[in-house]
Parts: sequence; structure tokens; C-alpha cells
Amino acid sequence: MSGLVQTPEETFLRKKFSAHYGASPIFVLGLDRREFGFGGWEKKIEFRHIAFRNESELRARLVAEAPLYISHSVAYYEFPDARPMPRKNWLGSDLIFDLDAEAHACGKFTCQECLEGVKADAIKLIEEFLLPDFGFSKSELAVNFSGSRGYHVHVVSDAVYSLDREARREIADYVSGTGLSFERLFWNEGKKFFGPKTGQGGFGGKFARAFVSRLSDDAFALSIARKLKKPEEKEKLKSAIAMGNWDNIGIVNREKKLSEKFDEMKLTMAGRIDANVTADTSKLIRMPDTLHGGSGFAAKRLSSPDAISAFEPMRSAPVFGGAPLKVKATEAVPALNIRDFSFGPIPSGETRELPEACAIYLICKKAAVLA
Ligand SMILES: [Zn+2]
Repeated sequence: MSGLVQTPEETFLRKKFSAHYGASPIFVLGLDRREFGFGGWEKKIEFRHIAFRNESELRARLVAEAPLYISHSVAYYEFPDARPMPRKNWLGSDLIFDLDAEAHACGKFTCQECLEGVKADAIKLIEEFLLPDFGFSKSELAVNFSGSRGYHVHVVSDAVYSLDREARREIADYVSGTGLSFERLFWNEGKKFFGPKTGQGGFGGKFARAFVSRLSDDAFALSIARKLKKPEEKEKLKSAIAMGNWDNIGIVNREKKLSEKFDEMKLTMAGRIDANVTADTSKLIRMPDTLHGGSGFAAKRLSSPDAISAFEPMRSAPVFGGAPLKVKATEAVPALNIRDFSFGPIPSGETRELPEACAIYLICKKAAVLA
């Protein structure tokens, strides 16, 4: 615990969090090899280099101290609580992808559109990269809601365990399309113009498939060549691209145009994953199923990668219920939906009695105080 005097809000939250941990099961894969970090009202990680031998030890600590944030290392160590870091004796790490909602006008109260956007990013990472390009199986992927406004995708596999920072950086770069040279996807052979086939792997195949599917859109087709007005010309081009023959594409300046289309299609994860997190072999990341002190929501572990499509953070991640709690808004709060409760907008300075899940969310956001 920090020696600082706690605000009534922090004391209240810790009491609620403690009760939650007393009543919830805990599971961490490789728990006794992980380093843990705890955070409080001011910082998401105030203490680290903490280790536990088993679930009951960890749980007793969570009930006793009720940290507002709980993280564990992506790494497995021989001595997780040793310091400095080299003394821990690194054994290996999971491979992590950290996806966060795009900065948007909604600010601290992340809107539905942003939550849907980051969910689509996570699905794209899994469906377009991790499964087809890297060949991971779904059973090697663990997908968790971050507890705030993003997702963490953990690859837990012997294939990634020993990878060093450079190798992890290369994976992040590939996924982000960093250093991808579009020109190398296409080449001339005499007068012929060849490019990726729809069935091939990597960015070439992604582009060919996206291109063929976009051809159904007349505006897109016409922006390539006027003759693509005709359905039979479209079909001819589609079958040609299936064979890697892009010759049929009657446009001047085709390399430049295709490269523009490639950028426009946003086929990479550029700017959508945090490459530094992926490259960091000793990163502390939110422990699945623990509470996030910035929302009061659980960093929910999804039952499978497929479960993400149906996952709705504002409905499924809150853990507190409907008991009434009076809070005073310290800033303007927009209209929000948490679980099945709709509330707001609340003008700054006004007091409301809200269902606990909503009141705790506002307190965690530092947008309300106990009244
Ligand atoms: Zn937004």
C-alpha cells in the first residue's frame, strides 16, 4: 500500500475491489514464473518485482491490498521477484499485441464507434495475420478485453517463447506493413505485367483478394479503368488476377495507381498495434479477469478468439451491479449505457443516485466523487 492518505473514493474502490477478489476465481498460466505489478489511484504500476507461488497466495494479496490495477509479465522467469532485471533469469515470453481505441473526440468516455473500431482491428489481426500468415492455431491465442477501451491478444506458443526483441519487432513491423515494398509485389516481364495471385499468402494475396472484391463496386472499378464498366471486362480481370496476371488492367501509370489503392485499402495494422509492446519481452500487461481501476470493468478473458465478435465491453465487462449509489459529477458526463442501465447526461456539479456499476465507472474515470 502507498503510505499516502487515500481519498474517500480510493478507499471506497479498494473496498469494492477487495470484495470482488474475495468472491472470484483466479487463474494465471505459469503464475509462479511471472512477475507481478500493482497500481493505485495515481499510477498503473506503483510496485513491481512481485512474485507468487500459487493462486491462493496471489488471491490473498489481492483481497488484502486490493490494487486498482494488476499486471503480470509477458515473460516467464526463473526468479520473477529478483532485481535488477537480469537476475530474474528470463526463460521466455508470450507474444503480445496491444490494440487501443483510436484517439477520437469522445475522449475519456470512449464511444461505441471507437469500441467497435478497435474490436474490428483485433479481429483483423487474428483473421488476416495471426491465423493465415503466421499459422498460429486458435488454441494458441488468448484474447482479453483490456478493461478500458482495447484488447490484448496473447500468443502462447513454443513457437514464440524464445524469440528475442529483434524477432518480435520484425513481427510487429510485418503486421504494420513497415518497410513493405509495394513495388516488389508487381513486376514486368517483357510487355507483360505480373502481380500477386488471389490465393497466395502475405500482403500480395491480401491485396489481390481485396482488389478483386472491391471491383464489384462500380465507382472503384471505374477509378481503375473505364472499360471496367462492362461486367464481362470485370470478370475477365478477376480471372486474370486469380492467375497473377495483372496485364489485363488497361490503365496508364498502373504501378502508381495500384500503390495508391493499396494504401487506401488499409490492409496493414499500421498505427493500430503498439509495436513497442510487442517487442518488449519484459512488459507487464493487465492480468486477465482483474479489475481496471480506470473503469471498474473486468479485463475479461474471452472464452475463445471467436467470442470477440459478440463481445460488448459496456455490457459484458462491468462487474458491479445495480445497488443505488449517490455521486456528484465533477465534470460534464455524456449520456452512457452500462450493462442495461442508461444514464446521463449529467452536468458538472450535479448529484445523482445511479446504479453502482455506473457510479463506480464515473468514480474510476475521476469524473465523479462520492456524495
Ligand atoms: Zn469515439
